[in-house]
Amino acid sequence: MQKKTRNTTAKQEILKLIANAGQALSHVEIQQQLNNLCDRVTIYRVLNRLVEEQKIHKIVNTDGVVNYAACHDCEHHHHNDNHVHFSCTICKSVTCLDNIIPTFQLPADYQMQEMNFMIAGICPNCKA
Ligand SMILES: [Zn+2]
Ligand SMILES: [Zn+2]
Ligand SMILES: [Zn+2]
Repeated sequence: MQKKTRNTTAKQEILKLIANAGQALSHVEIQQQLNNLCDRVTIYRVLNRLVEEQKIHKIVNTDGVVNYAACHDCEHHHHNDNHVHFSCTICKSVTCLDNIIPTFQLPADYQMQEMNFMIAGICPNCKA
């Protein structure tokens, strides 16, 4: 019973953290920002649960690090995160460009399940 309460709190904290971050967060960054309140395994479980619940989506950065960002218009049981992600080569931040959604036509008989569109470059913070 007590364990369940603690996990629920961890879930709320992690979701709040990701929702307020303004950019995608990696597992390590989440752990650091929680001041090591949760162990790796708990965070891993909570992140997977939040992805299943369409609250956050996974983004694999150009260096292979998995980042997590809040979902905005995902339907229940269906992710709809086809927007572009921007990866800064200087500060390594990953940002959702929610309003930029590439469209293209696949050849006949190809059915798309997910799309991963990543642009690498220099973010506004590093452009100075
Ligand atoms: Zn989503
Ligand atoms: Zn940057
Ligand atoms: Zn995104």
